[in-house]
Amino acid sequence: MKVMKFGGTSVGSAQRIQHVADLICRGSRNFVVLSAMSGTTNSLVEISDYLFNRNAEGARETIDRLSAKYRGVIAELYSTAEAREKAQQYADGVFDYIKTFTKKLFTQVESKIIIGQGELLSTHLMAFYLEEKGVAVQLLPALDFMKIDMQGEPDTEYIREKLTALLAKYPKAPLYLTQGFICRNTHDEIDNLQRGGSDYTASLIGAAVGAEEIQIWTDIDGMHNNDPRIVDHTAAVRHLHFEEAAELGYFGAKILHPTCIQPAKFAGIPVLLLNTMEPDAPGTLIDNVPETGTIKAIAAKDNITAIRIKSSRMLLAHGFLRKVFEIFESWQTSIDMICTSEVGVSMSIDNTRHLGEIVHDLKKYGTVGVDLDMCIICVVGDMDWENVGFESRAMEAMKDIPVRMISYGGSNYNISFLVRGEDKARALRSLSKCLFE
Ligand code: ADP
Ligand code: ASP
Ligand code: MG
Repeated sequence: MKVMKFGGTSVGSAQRIQHVADLICRGSRNFVVLSAMSGTTNSLVEISDYLFNRNAEGARETIDRLSAKYRGVIAELYSTAEAREKAQQYADGVFDYIKTFTKKLFTQVESKIIIGQGELLSTHLMAFYLEEKGVAVQLLPALDFMKIDMQGEPDTEYIREKLTALLAKYPKAPLYLTQGFICRNTHDEIDNLQRGGSDYTASLIGAAVGAEEIQIWTDIDGMHNNDPRIVDHTAAVRHLHFEEAAELGYFGAKILHPTCIQPAKFAGIPVLLLNTMEPDAPGTLIDNVPETGTIKAIAAKDNITAIRIKSSRMLLAHGFLRKVFEIFESWQTSIDMICTSEVGVSMSIDNTRHLGEIVHDLKKYGTVGVDLDMCIICVVGDMDWENVGFESRAMEAMKDIPVRMISYGGSNYNISFLVRGEDKARALRSLSKCLFE
């Protein structure tokens, strides 16, 4: 069985839904995961923001706009009146339901119900379309098998058990279809796997059913070796190790959600990034096979804050780093990059919610400095320390750019630079020139 996940851009219009319907009918026993149509989740978040702020009018306007958009999609998608009516009835039901929340107490629980409707809409529209075409499809409700635990992490045992039982119920179905992103929590309420979480759903399903491959379909040609919005002449990367993909996903190459790597990596299932617009192009293969002697790609992550703590007490002392890290832990802030010397430590964070408190607490141990609006540039490839040459080429590319931190040796797969946000484009272009041309 192959898992095929289509992102919001791939199902973003009636025409694209029809195109995806053709793609999923190729091969047999595919397990299809869909995101919400592009823009939908954002609108649902907007609606729930209005409801949190008790602005029923704002909510109603946004609901009406979204509902009109779906009316247009439905009018175009189906060729028979019967399918059109069925789909319209489903969509009306969803929007009427969302409207009932304008009259109720509104909490996180209701908000998650609303945000989850996008994937329910896209999968139902697809199921009705396939039925109209005479394709036998089994729609499996994600809310019946996707579950997160108390920590918000997927309960993989539960997912495997429930999904195995569901598949056994429909052993002859030639095609399975389900919602990405949505799940239930330990209170059995509707919850989700966080923004972009449909990739995670696909990977969890792949691991649970022991799929032969997990395909992530999007609107660009695989993973690019640099950001195509900033650098001209980027090229698609044909092969990545899981760890390289994880570094790239985390450091800004938006094409694959980083959480999606782990389940596939542990289950040893290859992930293939494919382009919905060019379905026969080779895409990017991600697996556990290392490749030596190449630099694969460059990615960048914006809005990074650097924090430095200097202290003479650190000299020859033990336990200093633990104290520093405990402060970040107590404020639920994770550290991305870290560099140490005998008299100081620099760290970077991207979540600044508790920056003030962290800086306040760090001042107990030394002098603290903060640099805002920084950017992490991450170069990914075979960076095994015993190789010579790659790190020096990357450094050479950065020779005219002020670099705040460098991290090398943390893994065999990357070297990262922390630079000013305003120097990002210059750094990406220079690295591309030195490493790929
Ligand atoms: P999907 O619908 O496939 O999940 P999204 O609509 O969530 O996709 O957003 C992913 C989009 O972001 C893609 O259209 C892609 O073109 C774009 N994108 C963002 N950052 C990058 C990057 N570094 N490299 C390539 N594409 C990017
Ligand atoms: N629809 C959700 C989002 O926009 C999940 C996803 O697309 O992966 O975040
Ligand atoms: Mg997406």
